[in-house]
Amino acid sequence: MGRLFLISLEGNFYSCKHCQAHLAHSDDLISKSFHSRRGKAYLFNKVVNVTIGEKEERTMTTGIYTVVDIFCVGCGSLIGWKYEVASEKSEEYKEGKYIIERFKVLGPDSGHYVISHDGQLLGGDSDDDV
Ligand SMILES: [Zn+2]
Repeated sequence: MGRLFLISLEGNFYSCKHCQAHLAHSDDLISKSFHSRRGKAYLFNKVVNVTIGEKEERTMTTGIYTVVDIFCVGCGSLIGWKYEVASEKSEEYKEGKYIIERFKVLGPDSGHYVISHDGQLLGGDSDDDV
Protein backbone atom coordinates (compact mmCIF):
# COMPACT_ATOMS: atom_id res chain seq x y z
CA MET A 1 0.00 0.00 0.00
CA GLY A 2 1.01 3.59 -0.34
CA ARG A 3 2.88 5.49 -2.98
CA LEU A 4 6.03 4.29 -4.56
CA PHE A 5 8.81 6.80 -4.00
CA LEU A 6 11.63 6.61 -6.47
CA ILE A 7 15.06 8.04 -5.82
CA SER A 8 16.18 10.53 -8.47
CA LEU A 9 19.78 10.72 -9.58
CA GLU A 10 21.45 13.80 -11.04
CA GLY A 11 23.96 14.01 -13.85
CA ASN A 12 24.86 10.91 -15.83
CA PHE A 13 22.92 7.84 -14.83
CA TYR A 14 21.44 4.59 -16.09
CA SER A 15 17.70 4.11 -16.00
CA CYS A 16 15.18 1.35 -16.60
CA LYS A 17 14.39 0.82 -20.25
CA HIS A 18 10.76 0.04 -19.44
CA CYS A 19 9.70 2.57 -16.82
CA GLN A 20 12.62 5.07 -16.76
CA ALA A 21 13.23 4.61 -13.03
CA HIS A 22 16.77 5.77 -12.23
CA LEU A 23 18.98 2.81 -11.35
CA ALA A 24 22.65 3.71 -11.07
CA HIS A 25 24.95 6.71 -11.32
CA SER A 26 27.77 6.55 -13.84
CA ASP A 27 30.16 7.64 -11.05
CA ASP A 28 29.44 4.28 -9.42
CA LEU A 29 30.34 2.30 -12.52
CA ILE A 30 33.31 0.03 -11.80
CA SER A 31 33.65 -1.98 -15.00
CA LYS A 32 32.01 -2.43 -18.37
CA SER A 33 33.88 -5.66 -19.10
CA PHE A 34 31.34 -8.08 -17.69
CA HIS A 35 28.98 -10.35 -19.56
CA SER A 36 25.80 -12.14 -18.77
CA ARG A 37 24.56 -14.94 -20.94
CA ARG A 38 22.40 -12.34 -22.72
CA GLY A 39 25.13 -9.85 -23.50
CA LYS A 40 27.16 -7.04 -21.99
CA ALA A 41 26.83 -6.28 -18.32
CA TYR A 42 28.21 -3.51 -16.11
CA LEU A 43 29.53 -3.73 -12.55
CA PHE A 44 28.37 -0.96 -10.16
CA ASN A 45 29.28 0.02 -6.61
CA LYS A 46 25.67 0.76 -5.79
CA VAL A 47 22.28 0.96 -7.37
CA VAL A 48 18.98 2.57 -6.36
CA ASN A 49 15.30 1.74 -6.84
CA VAL A 50 15.74 -2.01 -6.83
CA THR A 51 14.35 -4.90 -4.85
CA ILE A 52 16.31 -8.09 -4.33
CA GLY A 53 15.33 -11.72 -4.74
CA GLU A 54 16.26 -14.88 -2.93
CA LYS A 55 19.88 -15.81 -2.29
CA GLU A 56 21.15 -18.58 -4.49
CA GLU A 57 24.42 -20.17 -5.51
CA ARG A 58 25.38 -19.67 -9.11
CA THR A 59 28.31 -21.09 -10.99
CA MET A 60 29.98 -18.62 -13.33
CA THR A 61 33.10 -18.78 -15.42
CA THR A 62 35.24 -17.35 -12.61
CA GLY A 63 33.85 -19.47 -9.80
CA ILE A 64 30.88 -20.09 -7.55
CA TYR A 65 29.04 -17.12 -6.09
CA THR A 66 26.17 -16.51 -3.75
CA VAL A 67 24.06 -13.96 -5.58
CA VAL A 68 20.64 -12.33 -5.43
CA ASP A 69 18.76 -11.13 -8.47
CA ILE A 70 17.83 -7.46 -8.55
CA PHE A 71 14.58 -6.08 -9.91
CA CYS A 72 13.43 -2.58 -10.85
CA VAL A 73 10.95 -1.31 -8.22
CA GLY A 74 9.10 0.66 -10.88
CA CYS A 75 8.10 -2.21 -13.15
CA GLY A 76 9.46 -5.36 -11.53
CA SER A 77 11.70 -6.35 -14.42
CA LEU A 78 14.85 -8.31 -13.74
CA ILE A 79 17.82 -6.01 -14.37
CA GLY A 80 20.78 -7.98 -13.02
CA TRP A 81 22.19 -9.44 -9.82
CA LYS A 82 24.21 -8.61 -6.73
CA TYR A 83 27.24 -10.60 -5.59
CA GLU A 84 26.87 -11.53 -1.93
CA VAL A 85 29.75 -13.97 -1.49
CA ALA A 86 32.55 -15.05 -3.80
CA SER A 87 34.14 -18.46 -3.30
CA GLU A 88 37.48 -17.42 -4.81
CA LYS A 89 39.76 -15.03 -2.93
CA SER A 90 40.68 -13.25 -6.14
CA GLU A 91 37.01 -12.48 -6.85
CA GLU A 92 36.13 -11.03 -3.45
CA TYR A 93 36.24 -7.47 -4.79
CA LYS A 94 32.85 -8.21 -6.38
CA GLU A 95 31.15 -8.87 -3.04
CA GLY A 96 28.45 -6.33 -2.33
CA LYS A 97 28.63 -5.05 -5.92
CA TYR A 98 25.90 -5.06 -8.52
CA ILE A 99 25.67 -6.27 -12.09
CA ILE A 100 23.25 -4.53 -14.43
CA GLU A 101 22.60 -6.05 -17.83
CA ARG A 102 23.27 -3.43 -20.48
CA PHE A 103 20.30 -4.19 -22.68
CA LYS A 104 17.91 -3.70 -19.74
CA VAL A 105 18.80 -0.07 -19.21
CA LEU A 106 19.12 3.28 -20.89
CA GLY A 107 22.47 4.89 -20.24
CA PRO A 108 24.06 8.31 -20.60
CA ASP A 109 25.81 6.84 -23.64
CA SER A 110 22.70 5.30 -25.18
CA GLY A 111 22.51 7.82 -27.99
CA HIS A 112 25.90 6.78 -29.29
CA TYR A 113 26.42 3.31 -27.97
CA VAL A 114 30.04 2.42 -28.67
CA ILE A 115 32.45 -0.15 -27.35
CA SER A 116 34.36 1.53 -24.58
CA HIS A 117 38.12 1.75 -24.45
CA ASP A 118 38.44 2.34 -20.74
CA GLY A 119 41.03 -0.42 -20.46
CA GLN A 120 39.52 -1.97 -17.38
CA LEU A 121 39.98 -5.69 -17.46
CA LEU A 122 38.67 -7.00 -14.20
CA GLY A 123 37.82 -10.44 -15.48
CA GLY A 124 34.32 -10.62 -16.86
CA ASP A 125 31.77 -13.16 -15.83
CA SER A 126 29.51 -15.27 -17.88
CA ASP A 127 26.35 -16.34 -16.14
CA ASP A 128 26.63 -19.88 -17.44
CA ASP A 129 24.34 -21.76 -15.13
CA VAL A 130 22.29 -23.45 -17.82
ZN1 LIG B 1 11.49 -0.36 -14.50
